[in-house]
Amino acid sequence: MRARSDLDSAVLSAPAERSATAVAVTACRSCGGPAPKPFLSLGSTPVANRLLAGLGADAGEEQQFPLEIGLCEACALVQVTYDLPREAIFDDDYPYFSSFSDSLRAHSQAHAERLIAERGLTSESLVVEVASNDGYLLRFFHEAGIPVLGIEPTAGPAAAAREKGVETRQEFFGLALAEQLVAQGLRADVIIANNVMAHVPDLNDFVAGLAALVKDDGIVSVENPNIWDLVEHNEFDTIYHEHYCYFSTLAVDALMSRHGLTLFDVERFPELHGGTLRWRMGRGAAPQTSAIERLAAEREAGLDRFAFYADFAREVRAVQDSLRELLSDLKSQGASIAAYGAAAKGATLLNSTGVDNRTLDFVADRNDHKQGKLMPGARLPIVAPDALLTQRPDYVLLLAWNMSREILAQQDDYRRAGGKFIVPVPRPQVV
Ligand code: ZN
Repeated sequence: MRARSDLDSAVLSAPAERSATAVAVTACRSCGGPAPKPFLSLGSTPVANRLLAGLGADAGEEQQFPLEIGLCEACALVQVTYDLPREAIFDDDYPYFSSFSDSLRAHSQAHAERLIAERGLTSESLVVEVASNDGYLLRFFHEAGIPVLGIEPTAGPAAAAREKGVETRQEFFGLALAEQLVAQGLRADVIIANNVMAHVPDLNDFVAGLAALVKDDGIVSVENPNIWDLVEHNEFDTIYHEHYCYFSTLAVDALMSRHGLTLFDVERFPELHGGTLRWRMGRGAAPQTSAIERLAAEREAGLDRFAFYADFAREVRAVQDSLRELLSDLKSQGASIAAYGAAAKGATLLNSTGVDNRTLDFVADRNDHKQGKLMPGARLPIVAPDALLTQRPDYVLLLAWNMSREILAQQDDYRRAGGKFIVPVPRPQVV
């Protein structure tokens, strides 16, 4: 057992954000137009990915920042209306390792194989991935003998990528780095940027970098969850400070064309991260039917107009109320409840709904880099998934609902023993 003095000396792992302040956004971060018009506030919450190293109630105070999103009616970009400085968000402890998800690994492999075939990639080609993480995607090109370059700002994942043989530069991507690479004689046949554009504070600098680094006949492939799915399926928990922007195809088209890149293809993956779009751009490429139809559908649905988003806040309140009610009913019946998935979206869900360690006993997560820490705000201890079998909670709130199929399959033993999962969105449901 730990001595009391050990508990007392437990501190937050990252005091860096203590002095950081949120700044109200005064102009659209894409087109530079007027400040985005807010349509959903989730109150004030701590930084969602900032896991705490401390123990229990002794982990110290966390700084809270306002979390609100709005629409730029000029270019259709949904974005946060308060900014945090980048250093408050990313650091060397940034915990996400993509290879921990089986479905993402399969999606990535299929994407790599398709690009290799379709673009005729060879040992003379170059594939660059921005935010290449631990090399989860580039390894498939590398193993096929195609030169790759990963760009990854965080040390842990960058080192893990190099161990796989994936050449990686530990840096943030932008125009300056792109120009440096071009000066070294590097131009990319394919640039991939998956689930990163939402994290970029200076969008135009980022896209200018993509445009500078891609060959004249190369392509840029960008994936990101889609704002239409977010709104339609009440995926409000995917909103957090680290996600500055929430993209529609209309917003991507406006952003890319500003830098001379033409959107020519759109593909939808309804199961991935709650609904993901893959946008493909080239210089002077002719738009295909997929792009033309998607833009028309979004325009018709009104994704570029405030009215489309006006009722979203009410929908979100309804989900939150119903979840609080369900959990409180179960508690009053004497049920024990845990959670699964210590991801950022879980932090938003819990902290914006006001659910914490008084209701939930722990959160299980497969990622051993997260185990032993606490989720921010809600202060749930993160443990290995076998706790579901050893501690047998009656219910498990599935915070990582985007992986529900995979997690429910992995936790079959728990379910067969009578355990039940609660899926929070689009409406709280016991399965
Ligand atoms: Zn704008």
